[in-house]
Amino acid sequence: MTIPQSFIQELLARVDVVDIVGRYVQLKKGGANFMGLCPFHGEKSPSFSVSPAKQFYHCFGCGKNGNAISFLMDHAGMGFVEAVQDLAQGVGLQVPDDDISPQERERAAAARQKQATLSDVLEKAADAYRRHLRESQRDIGYFKGRGVSGAVAKRYGLGYAPEGWRSLASVFPRYDDPLLEESGLVIVGEEGQDKRYDRFRDRVMFPIRNVKGECIGFGGRVLGDDKPKYLNSPETPVFHKGRELYGLFEARTAIREQGYALVTEGYMDVVALAQLGFPNAVATLGTACTPEHVHKLLRFTDAVVFSFDGDNAGRRAARKALDGALPHATDTRSIKFLFLPAEHDPDSFIRANGTDAFAQHVGNAVPLSRFLVESASEGCDLATAEGRAHMASNARPLWTALPDGVLKRQLLGELAELTQLNARDLSELWSAGAGAREPARATAPAPRSQAPAASPYADEPPWGDMPPPDLDGWQPHHEPEYVGGGGTSGGYEAPGAGGYGGGKPPFRKNSGGGDWKKGSNGKWSKRDKDAPWPPQPRLPRTPAMGRADHAARLLLSHMAFLEELTHDDHAALCAQPSPHGPLFTWLEAQFHEHGPLAWAVLRESLREHECEDLAVKVMTGAHAQTEGELAELRLELRDLLNRMLIEDIAEQQKLLMLQAAQDPTALERYRALEQKRKILLGVNTTTA
Ligand SMILES: [Zn+2]
Repeated sequence: MTIPQSFIQELLARVDVVDIVGRYVQLKKGGANFMGLCPFHGEKSPSFSVSPAKQFYHCFGCGKNGNAISFLMDHAGMGFVEAVQDLAQGVGLQVPDDDISPQERERAAAARQKQATLSDVLEKAADAYRRHLRESQRDIGYFKGRGVSGAVAKRYGLGYAPEGWRSLASVFPRYDDPLLEESGLVIVGEEGQDKRYDRFRDRVMFPIRNVKGECIGFGGRVLGDDKPKYLNSPETPVFHKGRELYGLFEARTAIREQGYALVTEGYMDVVALAQLGFPNAVATLGTACTPEHVHKLLRFTDAVVFSFDGDNAGRRAARKALDGALPHATDTRSIKFLFLPAEHDPDSFIRANGTDAFAQHVGNAVPLSRFLVESASEGCDLATAEGRAHMASNARPLWTALPDGVLKRQLLGELAELTQLNARDLSELWSAGAGAREPARATAPAPRSQAPAASPYADEPPWGDMPPPDLDGWQPHHEPEYVGGGGTSGGYEAPGAGGYGGGKPPFRKNSGGGDWKKGSNGKWSKRDKDAPWPPQPRLPRTPAMGRADHAARLLLSHMAFLEELTHDDHAALCAQPSPHGPLFTWLEAQFHEHGPLAWAVLRESLREHECEDLAVKVMTGAHAQTEGELAELRLELRDLLNRMLIEDIAEQQKLLMLQAAQDPTALERYRALEQKRKILLGVNTTTA
């Protein structure tokens, strides 16, 4: 790209690194330089020096050094472009970018302006809530009763939203300002303007800040028994629950000092932990932990401990956090799970057992690898071949989500041992399955009766090449990979190039009749699109990643498509195995912060990012250009997404079928999913 070096130099000449660092670190003049406590490592006496003459910071303790841009990237967790934009905005410069159309630029600027405005509004409300807290003995009493000191209350900006329907009317000049509604502070009743009222009433207030320290929303907790006990700001242009962690801004430095982040379930946990000597705690905001939460945290540390209450809800939440963490569990990171005794949250545990006991608990937290195995084995009788096969089936998506590395290989060995297979067999079984999951290219269905004899693979299950049965008759045993349970070492070989996967035949079928749908390896042409699908020669098996690659390419070159996706689409994209899932997650975050960006801009932001290689790979080479009308590309994307969703559903259905014997509700859920699947298949048909 795109941001010219000359601009970076001009920018660095205009900003003052002392101001920028001073936003985050308390600095004192010492000779020609400014000194402060290093924000990158824990220390008691200052060895962090900022030079106004050289426009440079340097830590004599840990050696960290750099300029204003690198400070924002390293300390505030911003990306390169974000940091440049942040600095440019501060000195009134416009970031030049030839790759962005004037409309795109205008739109991005408007989005940033809107976010800044909403943050101002929220900040003003936070001030008012803080003032109210100081005036309210009862609420001060509440925090004091929970052992929260004035210093901690100040650090987290705790406040109080008074009783009464329109307290904010005394804070803002116009109570009917649409910004109050947009920021989630005021609710407008259905009858219109007359029915406006404050969302937060008679609650102690926890301002939620982004990593830059701007107020983006609130959590409010009742003092009495009113419901709901906890109330969050709604989703707004600045606040997305699935992306923000409460307390991250406040915990940033402590996370570096302590060497890990502690993820808890609620804001009061965070504040109480800070009070009790664990200022490195953050919390999700009443939602399950997402891959994006984990990704965000990992910008600040390589070690994360998730803490959960010891009840069933805690166990379920832990399972979700595991899913969110898997794509990020590289060999250099440490991700652990801490389960407190059933009756405790972190606050009550420390009060009952002391800080040391809690620290010891943290030290003994369950590593991700062990929790993965435990989760997969849950409810499986490993003494039987069926139980072991079931465990393997549970483990497969978890293991697949792990990034490649030593951990992944070791786990394969461990899982193989548990299933009483050798690692090579299990790996082959699973990778064969992955190939099978890819819908085959348009292949004329063989008559059912011929199938077994026609199979060129002696070891392959006889239904390997069977035509799709009736959709209603779909049974999970069409997944061939678990046949034979623990017994048949190796089962069958993965078909090589030119072969075919014996996967989920129903998905090859149009719901409308006997037509076959087009394949998905990224080779689309107008001719293909207009023609009905003639039988095509068998093509080499598409690599399992073909579809995700193609989706990545479409979204990287047409980021605006992100806006049109459903919640399910987003979830399916982000749940893709690494590196695709993390790339989609990253792209959504970019979209959220900047609106649609040109590829050249994204390219720049991706430098040294974990997803850089993948993004560059899909955006270069023979298929890099997404050709065709926007409407056509949109349909391509829709088709890809539907396939992902359908696969997802099939995975869930498979598990439900296995559960159906013990759990009568499983069948119901199976049917609901079947409904959904049919709708998706229908959509596919009309677009194809
Ligand atoms: Zn340092």
